[in-house]
Amino acid sequence: MKILSIISTFIFVVTAHSFTLSNNSSVKGWKDGEVTFVVNTANCPAGVDVIKAIKDAAEIWNQVPTSSLKVKYGGTTTATTDGDPIVVRCSVNFSGDTGGADEDGTVGVARANGTDRLASGQMILNASTGDANIANVSKKALDIVVTHEMGHALGLGHSQSTSAVMYYTYSFKTDLNLTQDDIDGISYLYPKDEFDDNMFAGCGLVSSQLPPTGPMYFLFLSLILLLPLLVYLKLKSKLKILPQY
Ligand SMILES: [Zn+2]
Repeated sequence: MKILSIISTFIFVVTAHSFTLSNNSSVKGWKDGEVTFVVNTANCPAGVDVIKAIKDAAEIWNQVPTSSLKVKYGGTTTATTDGDPIVVRCSVNFSGDTGGADEDGTVGVARANGTDRLASGQMILNASTGDANIANVSKKALDIVVTHEMGHALGLGHSQSTSAVMYYTYSFKTDLNLTQDDIDGISYLYPKDEFDDNMFAGCGLVSSQLPPTGPMYFLFLSLILLLPLLVYLKLKSKLKILPQY
């Protein structure tokens, strides 16, 4: 029993992943679930399509069926501070602009601020000299980072699940996809309204899945019980006509 208890505790611990929020729990996403990102390409490395990465990340977050979130690309900007729309920019002074982020290990950062709802935000991508410059990572890595940072700007913190896009590093991520944990997090912040205001929400019986009742029940039961007997008799009769050698 003790071994079983240890095993079950271990299973519970390793499967208990969950999303977190980037702000305190009283701040619940952007108002109306409509979030726009604008891009300042001034310091972005040549050959790195940050706008495309933002559009692709927006599409990924928009495809969660249980969420009402609508992320949009709103064009270019010259802004360099937190705002609404959220400003995305590349920094050649990444550590200084981000308050001390490691230039050689951090590809991007993002934040969003607000009281009841998020109201301003910014994403900064690393364009400083070093291994973590966005020009020095693969296209897939950049896409994962931008999707991850967009998650922060939308209000998500880090997940404990190594396969989640919101895990703190993309080192374990082989494909750019949202996991159930990412989906749960974004659906919590931006739940889909299934029904209009004041509309009754109900659920019904699915008749095809119900067992038969009354006389039909006895017919149903009889067939279930008779079936093995019929199969047995059929096999027995076949065995009788087998030629003998
Ligand atoms: Zn992060």
